[in-house]
Amino acid sequence: MCIFCKIIEKSIPATILYEDQTVIAFLDISQTTRGHTLVVPKEHFADIEDIDDNTLAHLIKVVKELSVKIKTKMGANGINILNNNGLAAGQTVEHLHFHIIPRYDEHDGFNCSFIAHQEDLLAIANLINN
Ligand code: AMP
Ligand code: ZN
Repeated sequence: MCIFCKIIEKSIPATILYEDQTVIAFLDISQTTRGHTLVVPKEHFADIEDIDDNTLAHLIKVVKELSVKIKTKMGANGINILNNNGLAAGQTVEHLHFHIIPRYDEHDGFNCSFIAHQEDLLAIANLINN
């Protein structure tokens, strides 16, 4: 059983912020920034490809509601919402989850950089669409 399934069945502890029939949210043990939270479906889905649309729709609604609440209550200035899928993308727990990362300033501990590359955009779009 995966570590998040153990949290869901309460066999290991977590600091739970929200819970309903299909979704649970708890503080990330790493606290990358203060208030860093994970929103997780209670059913074990490996990643975004695996989850059904109805559960995902509810999950993302909870992500939105909690993001607003965490930002307000923690006095944050922004929020990053992050979902890693696959080892290459940095997924370490193979149970789908969204990170809510409150942001205070650019030196608050979270960093995500977009490096620009010259690419043939049309060729890429054709590859994806055809
Ligand atoms: P990811 O790299 O997207 O798979 O993120 C997994 C996250 O789960 C990391 O940020 C970990 O700090 C967090 N994590 C792992 N184990 C626990 C745990 N027992 N309780 C809370 N968060 C955890
Ligand atoms: Zn699981």
